[in-house]
Amino acid sequence: MSARAGQRGGTEGRPVKLQRVGVVGAGVIGSGVAQLFAQAGHDVVLVDTSEAQLAAARRGIAKNVKLFKLLSKDRDQPDDVLARLRFTSELAAISDAEFVIENITEDWDLKRQVHGEIDAIISPEAPVAANTSAIPITRIASVNRHPRRVVGMHFMNPVPLMPMVEIIRGTHSSAEAIAAAERLVAQAGRQSIVVNDSPGFVTNRVMMLMVNEAMFLVHEGVAPAQDVDRLFKTCFGHKMGPLETADLIGLDTVLRSLEVIYDELNDSKYRPCPLLKKMVYAGTNGRKSGKGFYDYET
Ligand code: NAD
Repeated sequence: MSARAGQRGGTEGRPVKLQRVGVVGAGVIGSGVAQLFAQAGHDVVLVDTSEAQLAAARRGIAKNVKLFKLLSKDRDQPDDVLARLRFTSELAAISDAEFVIENITEDWDLKRQVHGEIDAIISPEAPVAANTSAIPITRIASVNRHPRRVVGMHFMNPVPLMPMVEIIRGTHSSAEAIAAAERLVAQAGRQSIVVNDSPGFVTNRVMMLMVNEAMFLVHEGVAPAQDVDRLFKTCFGHKMGPLETADLIGLDTVLRSLEVIYDELNDSKYRPCPLLKKMVYAGTNGRKSGKGFYDYET
């Protein structure tokens, strides 16, 4: 890749800022990613096929940036942050993006299609990051005509508050694309660690196993969710228990992630707990649906 991506620009040798960021998918994670980069001064186009989701993302971000301003005077005015964001259902609106981050539903068929569409409309020089919980980055890169520009960026939830991003190097990811991802994260005041490609990467390979096993404990009647979570919080100092974490991620996303890791590794230890499947079939997907292992209705 020739790209501005990893390039050091200007006579001062300072890295070029990746000003225009395209964010595809405005769900739990994509709306957080859009907020993070708009707060960091980037011009962000946020795309989703669902107008309702775009409206919800706009409301959520507007509320969050007001709250952030109350907590810290140094922050930009909420209106200035919102002015850097464009919400649209037209993917073509990201055609001039200098960096694209895809955050759509954890579903290989959907990701395959959207990555092909992204590849067709943006500059061949712009790096593309896939934000996925478990799908191998090398698999996603296989649908891009320029696989060297594809990297993984695994943001943690809630994105605007979390200090670390796991960056994933696919088989073909170029050093320039990885450097661009690292720089983008640093520009937003966050840290990153680069790991090699593997289903679930480092974090979710371990964490999905843990939350799934916690669900089996509830399913088998060993302990209720509240007690499982309290044990993890008080015994191990975790900020959240595994079932609270699953509710925060979204149980549908947890199920899809386990299915991906299970299929990719052919390892039965990742078989999803039947209780998780039943809860997803029932539409109780955790926080975002108002009910999961806990109730969130106001
Ligand atoms: P979500 O279900 O909240 O949102 C997914 C969004 O993608 C929806 O708004 C949907 O309308 C949109 N979408 C679907 N197809 C689309 C398309 N073709 N074009 C544009 N938008 C489309 O899911 P989420 O929790 O935000 O997860 C998104 C991705 O991030 C997944 O791959 C997930 O594994 C990953 N991820 C999630 C978490 C988490 O904690 N939820 C953490 C890290 C990574």
